[in-house]
Amino acid sequence: MRTPGSAEARLFDRVEQSAVEDSELLKLIVVVASRRGEQCQGLDIRSLSSSSERKIRDMTEILLLTSFIGLSLGSFLNSCFYRIPRGIPLGKPRSFCPACLQTLAWFDLVPLVSYVVNGGKCRSCSSSIPASYPLTEIALCVLAVAFVLMYGLSLQALSSLMLCFLFLLIGRIDWVHFVVPNILVGTGFVVAFALKLSTQADLLGDLSASIFSFVFLLIVRVIGDALARRPSMGMGDLKLAALVGFSLGLFNGCLAIWMAALGGTVYTILRKNAHEKRIPFGSFMAASTIILVLLEKDIQEIADRWLNSIQ
Ligand SMILES: [Zn+2]
Repeated sequence: MRTPGSAEARLFDRVEQSAVEDSELLKLIVVVASRRGEQCQGLDIRSLSSSSERKIRDMTEILLLTSFIGLSLGSFLNSCFYRIPRGIPLGKPRSFCPACLQTLAWFDLVPLVSYVVNGGKCRSCSSSIPASYPLTEIALCVLAVAFVLMYGLSLQALSSLMLCFLFLLIGRIDWVHFVVPNILVGTGFVVAFALKLSTQADLLGDLSASIFSFVFLLIVRVIGDALARRPSMGMGDLKLAALVGFSLGLFNGCLAIWMAALGGTVYTILRKNAHEKRIPFGSFMAASTIILVLLEKDIQEIADRWLNSIQ
């Protein structure tokens, strides 16, 4: 017995009529995977026709493939994180252990699995591999699945994932090296542009948001320099702010910079090394941007509901 009118019932009916979007179907897979063969809020999953079953099975395979691509991208990010700040080309030499310089075998490079099998240590010299490496792989896996669930197999999902890849890479590099590489910011603009094209966004508005974010942070920097009597912010942070504004638009761009400022302030208060005066502000901007790219849909819905309520 189906509960007429429920969200799941409507979704099940649309699957049967083949009028369902990929992203909606993927949401259904999560329900089916967790309650397979059971009554699901009054819905009998077994009542689905064989073609719908096949469609769900195909989509489940897509999700598994997406997870693997996400993990592999995370592994590539780890390589970029080590090589880009040191000026080592991405293609050559082959992957090696930074401690003993031993070239890694293919089975040392299986994302997540190699780390677990080798107990988080290099197989040659037993030096510890930082936990940030497997965590990055897991983060990219989660992001990849999240974007496919949100947007289906689309250019929007791909460019959102690539944008988060770049922001995560910039964030990690700035956290350790206090530098925001120009090449990554430039690539970010190209990827964000592709995302704008896929969503038919207001390009001129986002370009204005980019200039506004840059000028706003420039003013903050001039005031900060005068107050602290030393450089308060790097040029890389300003360029990154321009990318944040372009990627997120004016409202979410300002929100990201505000969240980054809040995070930076809390970090300054809580950090143990009080002698270190620098703050990796780029890392905070990168983190808040990733959060907002993930929540963009929800924020839009909340803003629309709020606008409707005051009209
Ligand atoms: Zn080693």
